[in-house]
Amino acid sequence: MTKAKNSLSKSITQVRSKRKRQPSVAELTDGILAGDTTVLARAITLIESTHPDHLQKSYEIVENCLSKTSDSMRIGITGVPGVGKSTFIESFGTTITSQGRKVAVLAVDPTSTFSRGSILGDKTRMPLLANDKNAFIRPSPSGDSLGGVARKTRESIILCEAAGFDTILVETVGVGQSETAVHSMVDFFLLLKLAGAGDELQGIKRGIMEMADAVVINKAEGANLKRALRAKTDFERALHLYPPKENGWSPKVLTCSAIENTGIDEIWDMIDSFVQHTKENSSFVAKRQTQNTHWFLQTVEDLLAQSLYQHKKIKKKLRVLTRKVEQNKISPFRAAEILLEDYRQQLK
Ligand code: GDP
Repeated sequence: MTKAKNSLSKSITQVRSKRKRQPSVAELTDGILAGDTTVLARAITLIESTHPDHLQKSYEIVENCLSKTSDSMRIGITGVPGVGKSTFIESFGTTITSQGRKVAVLAVDPTSTFSRGSILGDKTRMPLLANDKNAFIRPSPSGDSLGGVARKTRESIILCEAAGFDTILVETVGVGQSETAVHSMVDFFLLLKLAGAGDELQGIKRGIMEMADAVVINKAEGANLKRALRAKTDFERALHLYPPKENGWSPKVLTCSAIENTGIDEIWDMIDSFVQHTKENSSFVAKRQTQNTHWFLQTVEDLLAQSLYQHKKIKKKLRVLTRKVEQNKISPFRAAEILLEDYRQQLK
């Protein structure tokens, strides 16, 4: 009995010490580059952590992986809850893994902090893909702000690509600016829709049609097929009204049934022709460069704001000025100038 107890406590200690030892940056990088998904998941956890030590380590890992992210395709998928995003990703994902591609599913859900865990990118909603050795699924990171969530997802894309995933699907629901955030991290943006009673074009968020490279009308089967085809024509007509895209791509409208696996091959073919088209006219690479610059400048803005608002003396001054602004004792513009001048003095 005592012997058994001893050996039990020994193995618990072993497990604890194993758990305690954090893998080094080199070990994590090597594991990722070798395509080890357990290591990949661990490295993403590091990216998602807010611990300062983890932040430094995650920067190094992302940098090590940056140059390894060549021939990939990043696809954003958006649509209201219930439109069939996870069913579509399951069907689309398994279709392309069967063609030898490796698929990573990530998600951007800024509400996951409040809802305690994201429903996007949930493995139980994509059982086939979750068991597919050529697929990797990761739910949305949580975060205080969309900016934080988006940064983490963006860096996870880099790691997934370095681990050999050549097709990245980023799922989002249209909460706040989350669609814009996803749009600025993907090559191709797909809007999933349902055929309603002729009112498809109403209730579409402003700006979303301009972002879409394709609109796909899901649940186009059985009695719903006719309505779906009518909606397709309506969307095609509406898309014609928008100015042509700079990259020369005219957004397409397709129909599919994610549940019956119909229309899925056509969607992949369309994305493939988009890649060919944009690579031929060099806009594919140009867009990624613009996106990198965008994220760089966005981060500079975020860090500047953080540094300003977290400054002890400035915080105090901000409170005083806010009160004055509220009481119309000073104009908001003048107050902002005073605040920034004070900040500049503090930095000297
Ligand atoms: P999400 O909230 O956008 O991820 O939507 P889900 O993938 O969870 O799908 C919502 C519901 O629509 C589920 O009951 C699905 O089974 C159903 N659904 C999804 N795709 C299709 C489809 O192509 N046809 C039909 N008839 N139902 C579908």
